[in-house]
Amino acid sequence: MKVLKFGGTSVGSAQRIKNVAELITKRGRNIIVLSAMSGTTNSLVQISERLHNEDIDGAYGIIEGLKQKYARTLEEMFDDQVYLNLAKNKIQEIFDFIRLHTMSNFSERYEKEILAQGELMSTNIMHYYLLSQGVKSVLLPALDYMRIDENGEPEYNYIKANLSALLKASSDAEIYITQGFICRNPEGHIDNLQRGGSDYSASIIGAMIGAKEVQIWTDIDGMHNNDPRFVENTEPVHELAFEEAAELAYFGAKILHPTCVRPAQEHNIPVRLLNTLCPEAFGTLIHNSTETGKIKAVAAKDNIVSLKIKSSRMLLAHGFLKRVFEIFEDNKTAIDMITTSEVGVSVTIDNTKNLEQIKTELSALGDVSIDEDMVIICVVGDLKWQNCGFEADVLNAIRTIPVRMISYGGSNHNISVLVHKDDKINTLRLLSQHLFNS
Ligand code: ASP
Ligand code: MG
Repeated sequence: MKVLKFGGTSVGSAQRIKNVAELITKRGRNIIVLSAMSGTTNSLVQISERLHNEDIDGAYGIIEGLKQKYARTLEEMFDDQVYLNLAKNKIQEIFDFIRLHTMSNFSERYEKEILAQGELMSTNIMHYYLLSQGVKSVLLPALDYMRIDENGEPEYNYIKANLSALLKASSDAEIYITQGFICRNPEGHIDNLQRGGSDYSASIIGAMIGAKEVQIWTDIDGMHNNDPRFVENTEPVHELAFEEAAELAYFGAKILHPTCVRPAQEHNIPVRLLNTLCPEAFGTLIHNSTETGKIKAVAAKDNIVSLKIKSSRMLLAHGFLKRVFEIFEDNKTAIDMITTSEVGVSVTIDNTKNLEQIKTELSALGDVSIDEDMVIICVVGDLKWQNCGFEADVLNAIRTIPVRMISYGGSNHNISVLVHKDDKINTLRLLSQHLFNS
């Protein structure tokens, strides 16, 4: 059995839901994880904001707009009157539930209940549509098996036991439909796995049932080897190691939520990124054993600031770096890249909220200089130190670009360079030309 997850845009309209229904029906008995229709969770957030501010009329306005959207979707979806009515009743029930919250004292707990309704609607629509097409669909209610502990971590034993029981109870199903994103917390109240958490749901479910594969379906054919907005002729990367995918996700390749990687990786379940608009394309396969000895992709992260701290006191001294890092820690600012020499250290940050304070505190340790508007360019692949030549290839490709920092050896999977934002596009293009097109 596989787990197939479809995001908000893939189920964003009646037609798209029908397309997904056709696609999943052809693929046999799998668990289908759905997000809310695109825009719905944002509307539910807005409703909650209005209710927090006691703007009941404002909340009603958004609820009404959303209700009309769903009414139109249902009319477009169903030819069969019986299933249309079943779906209508369910959606009506959900809107009644949302309306109920406009009357009470609004709290964070109610907000989470409201946020959960998007996935409950999309899965019910899909379920009734499949039934109307003669497909024996079974709904697996995520609120009956998905649970997090007090640290927000999935409770694996609970999830596994409850999910297996639900699957066993309906072993004659042709397709299972379930909600991404939503879960319960230790108090048993409705909660969620954070925005964009449906990928995470799919990965957890895949891990718990020992799925053959977790498929994340979006609107592009996998991860590309460079940013298609800036570089021509980029290509989907066919295979990536989990660590490589995680590096790319951090560097802005937004199609895979970073936390999604973990459960599948730990349970050795391959994750495949696929395109609903081009279902036969190979996509990107992420697994634990991938091609070695290869550079796979390049990605960039914007809005980076670098800080250099130079001090002769660092020479032969110990404890200097600790004091530098403590300043960042005290200011709740994460460091991304680091390079050191005997008399200085450079770091990069992307959160500049406390930059002034950090600069003041660092000045007590040495001369501080700051470069703003920088970009980290990250080259990802099998970059173990024993592999010769990759560092040279990367630097050779960008020999005409001024490079502020170089970082290699932090993991087996990346070389990062820091350049000015004006050189970003040129750097990305040169790397693609030299690493992939030669
Ligand atoms: N519907 C949720 C969100 O918009 C979860 C998801 O789409 O993954 O954040
Ligand atoms: Mg080497």
